[in-house]
Amino acid sequence: MLQKIIRTLLKYIPRPVLIRFSLLINRVVALFYIGNKVECPVCNHSFIKFLPYGYTKATSRKNALCPRCLSLERHRLMYLYLNEKTDFFTKDLKVLHIAPEQCFYKRFRALKNLDYTTGDLESPIADVHFDVQAIPFPEASYDVVICNHVLEHVDDDAKAMSEIYRILKPGGFAILQVPQDTDAEKTYEDPTITDPAEREKYFLQKDHVRLYGLDYAERLSSVGFKVTADTFANNYTEERAKRFGLPMKEVFYFNKK
Ligand SMILES: [Zn+2]
Repeated sequence: MLQKIIRTLLKYIPRPVLIRFSLLINRVVALFYIGNKVECPVCNHSFIKFLPYGYTKATSRKNALCPRCLSLERHRLMYLYLNEKTDFFTKDLKVLHIAPEQCFYKRFRALKNLDYTTGDLESPIADVHFDVQAIPFPEASYDVVICNHVLEHVDDDAKAMSEIYRILKPGGFAILQVPQDTDAEKTYEDPTITDPAEREKYFLQKDHVRLYGLDYAERLSSVGFKVTADTFANNYTEERAKRFGLPMKEVFYFNKK
């Protein structure tokens, strides 16, 4: 029931309105979810369970959205990865966060070790507005670029990847997670599919232009990245992974210049 309500809200209410609305109610909702069965590593709060989430019947699932900070499974996975496998939270780093996620940008901005800039095509919460296929920053100017769930919307994703590679300093890294069909060897894309309903059918969402397969790592390496593909959630016991609500099938790509 709640799953259906959330699906309907996501479908019909514009995202900016939804974000404002959800920020108002999430503190209240979180009160009803107080408990100790699941734990969000992003906001450090625990609950009886996470909220359901998903735009379509195919992507809709239970136990996904943190009632307090609105993190999803993939956000919690990235947060744990950055914390355990990188020096993101301790070293002085210049960071560009493209299409910054609601649950992260205030937290990252508050980190004293980061020189933190957000960018987006149009989002009002971004510091700088630009197209990821033409990033207005000089070569080798950032230590870290985070740009999740963007490339599946971009016509020329190779251009976007090489732009990100260009602005990274040698030794820097990028986190570029995308929706992925882990059962498919090859990425499925077809520029003649432009009808929103068809795109939703083949690419999971009305505004996606492709669905990545397991060749995603090759696409990233083709612009120069040294890619490490890690099924990071598997480093946890099943019990811990369940507690953090992690996506067990998600491959985490660490992309180094
Ligand atoms: Zn949270």
